[in-house]
Amino acid sequence: MDKCVVCGQQDNNKAIFREDGIDILRCLNCGHVYSSYDAPENDAGYFGADIGLQDHFWWREAHERMYRDFGRRFLAGKSGRLLDVGCGLGYFVKFVSEWPGWEAYGSEISVPAAEFAKKELGLESVIAGEVQSAGFEKKSWDVITLWDVIEHVPDPHSLLKFLNSILKDDGVLFIHTPNIKIQLPKARLKKLIIGEKPGAHYLEAKDHVNVYSARSLSAVLAANGFNGINFVHLRPIQSVAGSKNVFLRVIKNSWFYFAKFIGLITGNRVNIDNLFVIARKSGN
Ligand SMILES: [Zn+2]
Repeated sequence: MDKCVVCGQQDNNKAIFREDGIDILRCLNCGHVYSSYDAPENDAGYFGADIGLQDHFWWREAHERMYRDFGRRFLAGKSGRLLDVGCGLGYFVKFVSEWPGWEAYGSEISVPAAEFAKKELGLESVIAGEVQSAGFEKKSWDVITLWDVIEHVPDPHSLLKFLNSILKDDGVLFIHTPNIKIQLPKARLKKLIIGEKPGAHYLEAKDHVNVYSARSLSAVLAANGFNGINFVHLRPIQSVAGSKNVFLRVIKNSWFYFAKFIGLITGNRVNIDNLFVIARKSGN
């Protein structure tokens, strides 16, 4: 990509990081950070045909506290229909389907992942394919969630516009995505410590094609009919890049409380946590 999806400027950028021979660019107009890699619009190959044990650990055990925190804050005492877009192996859909009062659906472009959700987790409500082709009715969802999805999407505008159209007027959109404000310093530190190793994860240039900040994510949401944009903190994933290392987990949990504290004392102007945003439809 050589166009900034946040402000639309073409070829007005500067390389700020490099991994696997791919430049990560910063838009010189609005500051948005994105990969120069031309990723496919729908990366169905994210989950390969063989789903490893590591994937289950990451999406089930490591995410469990975060999901429970989400449930306590956003599902408890309410009822309705929730759609998880890019639901992967389906563990979040399963979590919501077991919550009293909630009907949970998922869409997933990776066929092996969707098959796993259906066969192994017994989730008939998971649909394989693009969410836009699933035949969902307009204004039919109370809650739509995107867990670690938006950073993979080259053009977030068409997806967000579509999701806006299928959300009920009083519905809520939730997005969880990495925050460039932490990812970039982390990637630089890692490069400093281990050097430039092929295949190592720094900013995941081929997968994470847009890495948002609270500001750039708010801008793309506002451009697609959302307002009431509010960033919250959810208990973190209990793992660092899939590792079961207890020391790394302690650092991550400490960082979470530190980030919450920084948010508190700056009136949420400084966000150094992962981005977890709530948005509502404009005009409501
Ligand atoms: Zn820009």
